Amino acid sequence: MHPKRRPIIAGNWKMNMTATQAKELASKLIPLVAAVKDRDIVLGPPYTALQTVSEMIKGTNIGLSAQNLHWEDKGAFTGEISAEMLLDLGCKYVIIGHSERRQFFGETDETVNKKVKQALKKGLLPIMCVGETLTEREAGKLNDVINRQVTGGLKDLSADDMKKVVIAYEPVWAIGTGKTATPDQANEVHALIRQKVQSLYSAEIAEGLRIQYGGSVTPDNVSQLMAKPDIDGALVGGASLKPESFAALVNFK
Ligand code: PEP
Repeated sequence: MHPKRRPIIAGNWKMNMTATQAKELASKLIPLVAAVKDRDIVLGPPYTALQTVSEMIKGTNIGLSAQNLHWEDKGAFTGEISAEMLLDLGCKYVIIGHSERRQFFGETDETVNKKVKQALKKGLLPIMCVGETLTEREAGKLNDVINRQVTGGLKDLSADDMKKVVIAYEPVWAIGTGKTATPDQANEVHALIRQKVQSLYSAEIAEGLRIQYGGSVTPDNVSQLMAKPDIDGALVGGASLKPESFAALVNFK
């Protein structure tokens, strides 16, 4: 954690939670995090629960995120969701390029870039995910993969737009596996991302960039991760599905 960067803890619910279940989770969570003022709290329900969660968190310290969007404004794109639709439901953030989308739904650095640009054009704050697979790490390709994803995802973004982006470093081998990157491993990649952003933009923009770590973050390991200078938050899957564990994460010391 860095004194100048506001921590951001986000829950990615993935394809979990009906609207009814989401209502129950949110109603338990809201009071547990109500006193938090010095960090951003974000919930990323599935599309079908956005409306419900949006109504529940109105006027609270919790922001709403979608898990994806389409890069076009509207039209013949069956099954897709536009930025305008998300804004209309009260979304402030959108997760883009999650490794599950890259792995199972053919997302590439190019589509990630189109989505990041569309989100910013329409006024949503992108949480852009990057991360290497175990094979890539073991083959010594970590730096290349991260540099490629960062450069590709941010292509043609203005400096002003870059100031609104959050990057989530999520090593694919640590997502949903119970294997967390050690705080040092994570911090090393965060520093690499920051360096890359500095080379693409400026030291000032790199200094201000918030980089979340994601991959089996739990109430037990969050504090050690957040103690590292380049780790500014967490993107949390499994542990965000229970109000007590997500609240414990948000309230890390
Ligand atoms: C995620 O999917 O963004 C994630 C980090 O999942 P988990 O916390 O379950 O590893």
